[in-house]
Amino acid sequence: MQVPARFEYEVATSVEGAISLLQRYGSETRLLAGGHSLIPMMKLRLASPEVLVDIHRLDKDLRYIRDDGGTLRIGALARHKDVLESELVKEHYTLLTDAETMIADPLVRNMGTVGGALANGDPAEDLPAAFVALGAEVVARGPDGERTIAVEDLYTGPYETVLEPVDIITELRCSRQPAGSAYFKVERRAGDYASAAIGVALNLADGKIEDVRIGMCGVGSTTLRARETEELLRGQRPGAELYGRAGERAAEESNPLEDARGTAPYKRDLVRVLVGRALEKAVERAEVV
Ligand SMILES: Cc1cc2nc3c(=O)[nH]c(=O)nc-3n(C[C@H](O)[C@H](O)[C@H](O)COP(=O)(O)OP(=O)(O)OC[C@H]3O[C@@H](n4cnc5c(N)ncnc54)[C@H](O)[C@@H]3O)c2cc1C
Repeated sequence: MQVPARFEYEVATSVEGAISLLQRYGSETRLLAGGHSLIPMMKLRLASPEVLVDIHRLDKDLRYIRDDGGTLRIGALARHKDVLESELVKEHYTLLTDAETMIADPLVRNMGTVGGALANGDPAEDLPAAFVALGAEVVARGPDGERTIAVEDLYTGPYETVLEPVDIITELRCSRQPAGSAYFKVERRAGDYASAAIGVALNLADGKIEDVRIGMCGVGSTTLRARETEELLRGQRPGAELYGRAGERAAEESNPLEDARGTAPYKRDLVRVLVGRALEKAVERAEVV
């Protein structure tokens, strides 16, 4: 039986209270949200925080999904299940619904939170890649107030972020509503993390692709944005030949490592294929808007 190292346990009753507890106990303190990443890591002794600050009772402040004048706002304690079932998300942010159908299983989706998925920094986590494609930002609150960080700037390495130990992610914001978007993933078996996954969000103008963004999951040491591929696509008429070239470029931009989910060449091949499929689906969806 795997057992975590000894730790102290505190329950926060407000966001400000959580920040005070983080300040009081110092850098060996971790927030506990759904616990679906942190607890397994503690059992494996990959993480041994001295103190856990449980924030799951902050639902009334941090569990929501709403439209605010065209900006999507998701509270950090919204569960995967909430995102999957949101009519707002289904209508305007289809790639999030695509991604959520493929994240883990109903048990994990009932407990796992958007804030936890973003803060964890696992490059194989799906939501960060989906949010990179959407151009979303996280709102982080600390003792000195609030700041926003683009999701693409959040990660500095595997399980490493620019967040300070005293920061709590309170919200995810997305002000861009793409006309078409899609998320494609290959997993070894249902509910597994991605061998590779691609999120695409775009708009069309005069039959040409504009305002395109691509997030890549599981094919680098952090979540990646395929900037060169986006550049190649901008201003071009969609079609199979373009999708093929985009897939090639994205495969070059990826930097996968061999692990239990596949070899590096296999993952690059997946990027090549998934970028084409995601583009085709996103364009198809944009054309019917
Ligand atoms: C069996 C299984 C299968 C899974 N499959 C997938 C999958 O296919 N795709 C996928 O993307 N994920 C998958 N996951 C991961 C899971 O969906 C997410 O990791 C989980 O939802 C993270 O959220 P959490 O609320 O459980 O975070 P926790 O485990 O509570 O926390 C994770 C980390 O984030 C920090 N944290 C949490 N909330 C905040 C906050 N508001 N502000 C700052 N820091 C915070 C914690 O301190 C901790 O370091 C799987 C998990 C399991 C157990």
